[in-house]
Amino acid sequence: MSLPNCPKCNSEYVYEDGVLLVCPECAYEWNPEEVVEEEGLVVLDSNGTRLADGDTVTVIKDLKVKGAPKDIKQGTRVKNIRLVEGDHNIDCKVDGFGAMKLKSEFVKKLS
Ligand SMILES: [Zn+2]
Repeated sequence: MSLPNCPKCNSEYVYEDGVLLVCPECAYEWNPEEVVEEEGLVVLDSNGTRLADGDTVTVIKDLKVKGAPKDIKQGTRVKNIRLVEGDHNIDCKVDGFGAMKLKSEFVKKLS
C-alpha cells in the first residue's frame, strides 16, 4: 500500500499515525479522509515551489509597473502575499508602490 506524498512539501516519507498521515519533513499532519481534492489555487514560483497565502517572496527581476514612475527592483521583498486566479496570480502590497498584482513566475519564495 502506498501513501500519498505530503501535500505541503511533497515528501515521500509520509507515515500513518492513527487516522492521520504525518510528514516527518515538515511536520504537517492531515486526515486523508478530509482531503478529497486539493482545494485552492496551485501557484508556483520561479523555482516551481508552491506558494501559499501569507508567504513572503522576493522579486527575481526588475518589473515594470504600469503607471508607476519606477520599476520594482529585483530583490524586493513582498510580504503576506495572497493567491488569486488569473494571469497575475499574486495579490500583494509592495512598499513604495501599494497594492498590485504580480506574476508568480517573477518571484521566489523565501524559506
Ligand atoms: Zn511535508
